[in-house]
Amino acid sequence: MSVLAGFVAALADGDLELVDLTAPLSADTPVLRLPDQFGQAHRFSLSEISRYDERGPAWYWNNIATSEHTGTHLDAPVHWVTGRTGGDVAEIPVRRLVRPAAVLDLSAEAAADPDFLLQTGHVQGWIDRHGPLPAGGWLLYRTGWDARSGDEEQFLNGGRTPGIAPECARWLAEQTPILGVGVETVGTDAGAAHGFDPPFPCHHELLGRGRYGLTQLRNLAHLPPTGSVLIVAPLPIVNGSGSPCRVLALVPR
Ligand code: MN
Repeated sequence: MSVLAGFVAALADGDLELVDLTAPLSADTPVLRLPDQFGQAHRFSLSEISRYDERGPAWYWNNIATSEHTGTHLDAPVHWVTGRTGGDVAEIPVRRLVRPAAVLDLSAEAAADPDFLLQTGHVQGWIDRHGPLPAGGWLLYRTGWDARSGDEEQFLNGGRTPGIAPECARWLAEQTPILGVGVETVGTDAGAAHGFDPPFPCHHELLGRGRYGLTQLRNLAHLPPTGSVLIVAPLPIVNGSGSPCRVLALVPR
């Protein structure tokens, strides 16, 4: 059997499961809010062009409005000032869009402390149990925050959301071979990360070293610590700093 015939058969008979890690996109999708002096991201919205009416008797379609960073989305290096000479979202080599994932579950810690920060020691403990982080793969950081994603107030939690400690972000960017970090929260950094040194360390360190961010993932609880593969599909927005994307996980059963 060819590799692809085996793949299709494994999907058909359930040896491989597809898990959707993507949040639905609607006007209710939670969006990051910045302090008033800064520009703000658009919510997602539909604007009807026609719906089987005089504007188009046989067809229904909409214009959409969104920011690049609304809903489940990818951060490209050029999103951050430290990555300003890095790539935009259209320039991501497609081979990087299908990559293995490591899943670190800190949901109990984040449930006990909404300001919980991932430390290097947590990642090193995971490596001791499961082996090295996948070279060129994703580190998926589970906090259980996806359970809040249906309610923007709970999801944003007044700016108190878990994230990554500055020294851990620096260590991940400088000392590990990961492609990027994926999270369940509205951004890859903690809600309080504007006050860290450097501010927004995950963006600062990872995007500054040509890595990527994935946010507002869900269903990470259905993934094993190792052995899954992500298919990440951002739109190739020319000069885009990021894009809403569909994120699927292939999981062996
Ligand atoms: Mn973003």
